[in-house]
Amino acid sequence: MDLTILYRGPLASCDYDCPYCPFAKRRDSPERLRADRAALERFTAWAAEQTGDRLSVLFTPWGEGLVRSWYRRALIELSHLPQVERVAIQTNLSCRTGWTAEADPATLALWCTYHPDQTRTTGFSPSAGSWPRAGCVTASASWGCPPIWTGPADCAPISRARCTCG
Ligand code: SF4
Repeated sequence: MDLTILYRGPLASCDYDCPYCPFAKRRDSPERLRADRAALERFTAWAAEQTGDRLSVLFTPWGEGLVRSWYRRALIELSHLPQVERVAIQTNLSCRTGWTAEADPATLALWCTYHPDQTRTTGFSPSAGSWPRAGCVTASASWGCPPIWTGPADCAPISRARCTCG
């Protein structure tokens, strides 16, 4: 059976501070983080057992998942399972991306959202070394904050990597 799965665990926190977002700079309690990690590990164990199916998985956490080691590990592990056709996550790409070298680039995908008002100082830029391993599928979108985002020129850092907002 072909299964397309949207996964969202208890996580509900983010390292960015977007003014319109309920998860901005919110911190999860240690208990919630432990529950989120345990739930994700249960899911990856379940996925590893589904050898008779073909899985496509998209992680859409409330907040940012890739700053948590268990999401990075899950993406790496799932990308190597033969029954997983695609594993992807929505991310603000605030984390370092060296971990993507451990994943199968043919299976891993990142849905990267560019927040110009949040990245001026942290960098969302291939030249800053934050871009994922070449080969994995990436898609980019940009949130526009009118006082800050003045147009596609603001996406110059990601235009080489298929910015889609222009
Ligand atoms: S990066 Fe996304 S989840 Fe984080 S505060 Fe901004 S809109 Fe919310």
